[in-house]
Amino acid sequence: MNTKNTILIIGGGLAGLTSAIHLSQEGFEVILIEKNQFPKHKVCGEYVSNEVLPYLEILGVNPFEHQAKRIHRFQFSGLSGTTLDIELPLGGFGISRFALDQILVDRAIVLGVQVVQATVKSVVFQETQFQITTSNNQCFKADYVLGAYGKRSNIDITLSRKFIQKKSSWLGVKAHYKADFPSDVVALHNFNGGYCGLSKVETDHINLCYLADYKSFKKYKNIDAYQKSVLYKNKELKTFFENSEIVFDVPLTISQISFDKKEPVTDHILMIGDSAGLIHPLCGNGMAMAIHSAKIAASLLVAQRLQNISRDQLEDLYTKQWNLAFQKRLKAGRLIQQALQNKRLTRIGVSLVGTSPYVLKNIIKSTHGHPLV
Ligand SMILES: Cc1cc2nc3c(=O)[nH]c(=O)nc-3n(C[C@H](O)[C@H](O)[C@H](O)COP(=O)(O)OP(=O)(O)OC[C@H]3O[C@@H](n4cnc5c(N)ncnc54)[C@H](O)[C@@H]3O)c2cc1C
Repeated sequence: MNTKNTILIIGGGLAGLTSAIHLSQEGFEVILIEKNQFPKHKVCGEYVSNEVLPYLEILGVNPFEHQAKRIHRFQFSGLSGTTLDIELPLGGFGISRFALDQILVDRAIVLGVQVVQATVKSVVFQETQFQITTSNNQCFKADYVLGAYGKRSNIDITLSRKFIQKKSSWLGVKAHYKADFPSDVVALHNFNGGYCGLSKVETDHINLCYLADYKSFKKYKNIDAYQKSVLYKNKELKTFFENSEIVFDVPLTISQISFDKKEPVTDHILMIGDSAGLIHPLCGNGMAMAIHSAKIAASLLVAQRLQNISRDQLEDLYTKQWNLAFQKRLKAGRLIQQALQNKRLTRIGVSLVGTSPYVLKNIIKSTHGHPLV
């Protein structure tokens, strides 16, 4: 049994890895437990908002040293054939999760983070400490636990979190393609029952990632049939599929994606990233939110060590800061997603935005934060 009092992070995605780097830079002893081996492809649009760049620099990470693509244009197409092309207010960069998670874990290991490959099975808080057990029966003790285990995990069931009891109807599909595509563009193409993003990553491949309503998806016998019958109805997507070559053997899929409200703190665990709440992917901002929430939690743990803040106060402060940073954005994301699923509203929205790109820029701003320093 490991008896060191320390901070333990469950999950080695963006939230887990950035909080691990931040805390180890501040001299904390950090254990990070990740169930999968690095690196791994994940279902994600792989467009990261530039708001995280100043913070990544503080963490010693520069995505452009790894050939990330600079993206500053946004293209949109609706089902009726309308298209828009605007300059993004803040912009972003394109990098695969395969590369980004590996860059971050390498940095964490250099700083002394203990990275353990195992699946966390249970987390129990007793008096002042947590006991964490993995499915291969390793046990760890920690003073604080950060839950960075993503959208949906066995731990949500163990903790009886409310959202996990409801079925969710969203499915995510992603693959990389070879095609002619501008490096500086992120595109969002609407289709019946979902939307699809396209943008380039560091390998020069194009990430194609879409979110689809499971009810409409299950009518088709496989992904190919679904894409041909539903996504091809959008002219831009049809052109892309017909002029590209898939790089993956098969597309990756995830199901049961929930956008329901979650609590930022559960059983004394500070939830960060998607474990605390997931914004609709059409906003292209989930990764920035994951990194931002990691920064909030890590900064509070640093403050707590210096100022003798109680655990209750820490949890309260985290909840308040999390809500302040993200609640409005999540709401804006939900509203835009609902509007996109309604053909008439989309048509009105697109023609409104078409006459004034300023409106679209403001919609984008409403789902994004300010540069993180
Ligand atoms: C279809 C789709 C497209 C998206 N596109 C974009 C986009 O273009 N831009 C953007 O910014 N965001 C996008 N997002 C959102 C973005 O992917 C997430 O917000 C981001 O990955 C959250 O990071 P995270 O660290 O919270 O979770 P993750 O990256 O999911 O990491 C969680 C980690 O925890 C591990 N884990 C889980 N359970 C356990 C356990 N019991 N023990 C140990 N480890 C465990 C997992 O293996 C995983 O590595 C998209 C999401 C979807 C669904």
